[in-house]
Amino acid sequence: MTAGDGVRDTLARLRADVADLHRMLTRYELVTWTAGNISARVPGRDLMVIKPSGVSYDDLTEERMVVTDLHGRLVDGDQAPSSDTDAHAYVYRHMPEVGGVVHTHSTYATAWAARGEPIPCVLTMMADEFGGEIPIGPFALIGDESIGRGIVEALHGSRSPAVLMQNHGPFTTGKTARDAVKAAVMLEDVARTVHIARQLGEPIEIPSGQVTSLFHRYQNSYGQRTDR
Ligand SMILES: [Zn+2]
Repeated sequence: MTAGDGVRDTLARLRADVADLHRMLTRYELVTWTAGNISARVPGRDLMVIKPSGVSYDDLTEERMVVTDLHGRLVDGDQAPSSDTDAHAYVYRHMPEVGGVVHTHSTYATAWAARGEPIPCVLTMMADEFGGEIPIGPFALIGDESIGRGIVEALHGSRSPAVLMQNHGPFTTGKTARDAVKAAVMLEDVARTVHIARQLGEPIEIPSGQVTSLFHRYQNSYGQRTDR
């Protein structure tokens, strides 16, 4: 264990958590084949636990999760890390408050991304969970820092923990990996509902002052609910 014995217990717990959380992606039908990935920051260390690349969801055990540093270099594990590792690492390096990152190509969210269109804040649950519209990030190719930079820039100045990378799909963040998974699930739900609402007319946007009060009320008054 090159990461140091002091973090052995934390890494074991995070490997189990991250492996388990991947089951949520299939349960909520946010992923197909091996696309999609979850990572968790190792608290207090410049490390993260992430899904290995190209492994079937049925075979994602805690032992197969990999540990990398925050530049995507393998620290522990038998397999190559997810091909999106550089994007996750960039987010952790530039957003210290983020403890978990999720990426999927969930259908409705990705349909908005294909149009390069932010999802307008037309539902109280969007105001509660996302604090406004879901922003669009730039078109960016995998292979360098441009996806990570695009995510961070799009989320900067937004209350939303979710961003739709244009022509690609959603990335979501959270204080923990579980929070980021919840955001990915909620995002797909609102993307679907607003898409359906559009079929028969123009959804009504919630005034920004009301969005702000809904967001603060939900985040502060209901922030300690047991399901969060
Ligand atoms: Zn992708």
